[in-house]
Amino acid sequence: YNRFVEKYPDILQLAKATDQEVFKLWEGLGYYSRCRNLLHTAREIARERRGHFPETYEEILALKGVGPYTAAAIASFAYDLPYAVLDGNVFRVLSRYFGIAAATDSTEGKKIFSALAQEVLAVKKPGTYNQAIMDFGATVCTPFAPRCGHCPLQKTCTAYAEGKVNQLPVKEKNLKRKHRWFSYFVFECGDKILIHERTEKDIWQNLYEFYLVETDEPISWDTLYVREWLYEQMGIRKAAIVSISAPQVQQLTHQQVKGQFIQVQLETIPTVLAAYQWVSRTDLKKFPFPKFITAYLQSQVGTGG
Ligand code: SF4
Repeated sequence: YNRFVEKYPDILQLAKATDQEVFKLWEGLGYYSRCRNLLHTAREIARERRGHFPETYEEILALKGVGPYTAAAIASFAYDLPYAVLDGNVFRVLSRYFGIAAATDSTEGKKIFSALAQEVLAVKKPGTYNQAIMDFGATVCTPFAPRCGHCPLQKTCTAYAEGKVNQLPVKEKNLKRKHRWFSYFVFECGDKILIHERTEKDIWQNLYEFYLVETDEPISWDTLYVREWLYEQMGIRKAAIVSISAPQVQQLTHQQVKGQFIQVQLETIPTVLAAYQWVSRTDLKKFPFPKFITAYLQSQVGTGG
């Protein structure tokens, strides 16, 4: 990057360069279509605008290779224009903070989130705001194990209050993944167990399950890590980690589900989990569960757990 900007400090210099020279400097960076678009756009700006970069959102968006995300980023960072950026980080923060379960990659979801992003944008400092919300998503409200325990927005965050941090955001494409890793927290309090119905259009729709944390990769749970996680995610300090099961596998027609069960005995039901269903162990058999879970429950009976 440094070599690139040293060699081509402005648009006119870049526009004058040969393809071969520019591609040579870009070599190894990947995303070669970006290099092509950059060159094309530099030459167009040199030719048609005498090297003057456009300063309105619409004009920036019209440049080759620039979509709404890049246009909003340039318009707000460079010119402080009030356009909200919407990348994966922003989707995640908005979805959790406002508790929105619309799929971020669906047409409807995109509409909802872009309207909301625009509505909450700090119009006086859009550049700073955009960079801040992206950084916040990358460092605090992260995809797995967000740092809720240290989050300045925790008191007003909907997902935190409702114990849904790990269920949001929803992505349609996630539901179609071939390999999925499910960490099930079996929360117990007295003789009550937390369950809830799977309502998404996904595998096991209308069946019941425990508190689920789905990730792309296996998680190496151990007692210490579970403790840390419970505190950071839910503010739970007092709990007994009863057991962490060995990994289980279930092969479905188009997907393979692997995962683990973490049995946690709570002293009281924390407010963040109060909205879930809490049923007695004997009543569990009245609810339909996927085989992945019934197999676990049977193994528990077998060990007297
Ligand atoms: Fe994200 Fe947790 Fe903060 Fe809510 S409390 S905004 S989920 S880090």
